[in-house]
Amino acid sequence: MLAEIPSKFLNLAKRPELFDYMVKIRRSLHENPELGYEEFETSKLIRNELDKMGIPYKYPIAVTGVIGYIGTGNPPFVAIRADMDALAMQEAVEWEHKSKVPGKMHACGHDAHVAMLLGAAKMLQEYHSDLEGTIVLVFQPAEEGGGGAKRMRDAGILENVDAIFGLHVSTRYPVGAVATRSGPVLAGSGFFEAKISGKGGHAALPQHTIDPILASSNIIVSLQHLVSREADPLDSQVVTVAKFQGGHAFNVIPDSVTIGGTFRAFSKEHLMQLKHRIEEVVTLQAAVQRCNASVHFYADEKPFYPVTVNDKDLHKHFHKIAGHMLGGENIKEVQPIMGAEDFSFFAEAIPGYFYYLGMLNETEGQLESGHSPYFKVNEDALPYGAALQASLAATYLLEHHSPTTTPKGSFHDEL
Ligand SMILES: [Zn+2]
Ligand SMILES: [Zn+2]
Repeated sequence: MLAEIPSKFLNLAKRPELFDYMVKIRRSLHENPELGYEEFETSKLIRNELDKMGIPYKYPIAVTGVIGYIGTGNPPFVAIRADMDALAMQEAVEWEHKSKVPGKMHACGHDAHVAMLLGAAKMLQEYHSDLEGTIVLVFQPAEEGGGGAKRMRDAGILENVDAIFGLHVSTRYPVGAVATRSGPVLAGSGFFEAKISGKGGHAALPQHTIDPILASSNIIVSLQHLVSREADPLDSQVVTVAKFQGGHAFNVIPDSVTIGGTFRAFSKEHLMQLKHRIEEVVTLQAAVQRCNASVHFYADEKPFYPVTVNDKDLHKHFHKIAGHMLGGENIKEVQPIMGAEDFSFFAEAIPGYFYYLGMLNETEGQLESGHSPYFKVNEDALPYGAALQASLAATYLLEHHSPTTTPKGSFHDEL
């Protein structure tokens, strides 16, 4: 029955054919990382694999995105998602399958995410005639700041889809464990950049200048008060100035300074309040020191990420399925963090569920976390991710198909 599907998928995913298949895909992607909206070869590899499996798909969506369909082609529809993009950084790990592209690296594990979704697809396609509805495979571009999920969503890929599941590899939990929570799990996030303009001149004659360095310093201090003095201490928010650029010489006051950073909150209302106040504080505080300032929020290039909220009912579903597969003791509870994920664009539109997949191997020591040039994926985690995604989706259909539809063959006989 339903309770047996998760462990049967896990056994299937651990078989050498499927495990080796996922490892091969993952290593090939790792060697050829592509940045957001440039995942052309990645996308081609995915489509080739879907072709070989006989899975129909739509392409292109949001430049390089691919949407595959497994099952009856009829409702209910449930989606499982992987992101495809790499990061603009140099890999520092010396190994056989090191990135072949200088300055680009899969340092967030999205290569593993794609490999696991293809692994899940392979298993699900094998049992496609048993599916009580349709599983939608979502391969999305540009998770790392480009808002690929937003563009996929705006292209209508979630039409008629009832729920979506997403995962992220994590170096914090052991292989065979997952971590998650119900409700808000990651923050909403925005970026800003401000140019503070004064009047440059000799550093020894400040009276003839309008000093943008001092004005910017005061702006940064004032921005710190948005969270410490204006936000409810029990409501987590962040304003970080991460960029401060201006001046080249010891004895010259520059004409202008550019500062930039990010702001985070756990509700859209508070995120918008921060945006509004950042603009106000920057321009008004600049005026105190006779400077002019303009603030840019990059909302087109880097859309504000919504809060990632895990649906309550999907949380119950996840607990049941992951519990059957891994045992309840291997489902860890996470605290929300101020990081952001563009999976939130999907979860904002329909019930969504995002969880972390452990890949720590205690005997091999601590792994470097994501976005480190030393980041490594423990490939032993691949069967768990593939089996979880496949099981979550297949069992969701079993539980949600309309009773009027004729029951199909049952998984427990065949898996
Ligand atoms: Zn990342
Ligand atoms: Zn990531």
